[in-house]
Amino acid sequence: MSNQNPVFIPGPTNIPDRLRLAMQVQTQDHRAPDFVQTFAPVLEDTKKVFDTATAQIVTFPASGTGGWEAAITNTLSPGDKVLIARYGVFSHRWIDLCTRHGLDVQVIDCPWGSGAPADQFQTVLTGDKAHEIRAVLVTHNETATGVLSDIGAVRRAMDAANHPALLMVDCVSSLASVPFEFDRWGVDIAVSGSQKGFMLATGMAILCVSQKALDAMETAELHRTFFDFRDMMAANATGGFPYTPPLQLIYGLRESLKMLFEEGLPNVYARHHRLAEGVRRAVDAWGLELVAQSPDLYSDTVSAIYVPEGFDSNILTDHAFNTYGMSFGVGLGQLHGKAFRIGHLGSLTDAMVLSGLCTIEMAMADLSYPITLGSGVAAAQEHFRATPGNRTEAA
Ligand code: PLP
Repeated sequence: MSNQNPVFIPGPTNIPDRLRLAMQVQTQDHRAPDFVQTFAPVLEDTKKVFDTATAQIVTFPASGTGGWEAAITNTLSPGDKVLIARYGVFSHRWIDLCTRHGLDVQVIDCPWGSGAPADQFQTVLTGDKAHEIRAVLVTHNETATGVLSDIGAVRRAMDAANHPALLMVDCVSSLASVPFEFDRWGVDIAVSGSQKGFMLATGMAILCVSQKALDAMETAELHRTFFDFRDMMAANATGGFPYTPPLQLIYGLRESLKMLFEEGLPNVYARHHRLAEGVRRAVDAWGLELVAQSPDLYSDTVSAIYVPEGFDSNILTDHAFNTYGMSFGVGLGQLHGKAFRIGHLGSLTDAMVLSGLCTIEMAMADLSYPITLGSGVAAAQEHFRATPGNRTEAA
């Protein structure tokens, strides 16, 4: 079905025409001098989005999952202990990936709707007198539940425990949409991808790597070939790639960074906050509940919303798609059938978000949800009218 409606899934996100055109380039010789001069400035500019002056950017032709794999295989050895909390599908998948690579994974199970438990991390790390835990892994934005965790608090917990473990952060659905402070939070590896805040096609894993992580790489024994940081960094140092680069995505990333800097990163973050708050006002007006347990955990990139008792969220998302041609996120894992998600990240304006709210509201009314038609849209309209910000540019 040809469909001009924006998507309201939490990634891949809508691709603005400017970025579609930037990626629409004919094949070029990646060994030619002009490509060699293209890539280095892109890597340099990407550092600004992670907010780092000290770390290295490493990219791979992969999705975020490849980024997870690159992070652990470059820094850890079989049997190494890692500490991670599970509070949604994506933290669970990273745990699964670590387990399959033969790591000794210590999992803290948390209720879905909560976030990274800094206090519990501190207790476990304080008890690890021999410093056997080599890495703490944290999902910054749990896309399944719409929860944003406080990475600064995790860093403070690690420091309070005086623990030298690496801090690895999944920022796949947060980077370039909400503030990320790689240096200030003392992150060692941050993993992201091209298809969410960067508004590009899927296919590039984008990592930021500290010197401490690079030092760990020297003794790490997990197997890696395609994802070897050393091969990638050595080739990048002369403007090249260890294999065929995803040229179109590199041109796309160059243009995406230009768009983000033209809008200004603080304005990008403010726009995401305003749009997210509009969605939350709508949820409140409908009388529905967010999965995120408290306002300090609310994600500005995705809201997961419980449907009332007796309703099936999959029927709602199917109905919105089949009847109105609009996609919303389904409930994942434990939330299957119980919650739907509204993605509000990337290339979106007030008017686009209102179209999503209006549509899901119609779908709920069609299915006899106990909501008042127009109530959520009106609440978001009031919020958007009352808050200043960039309204016309998609990004
Ligand atoms: N981490 C988070 C928080 C995600 O939202 C996703 C995908 O949605 C991933 C990791 C996995 O990324 P990918 O699907 O690009 O492999």
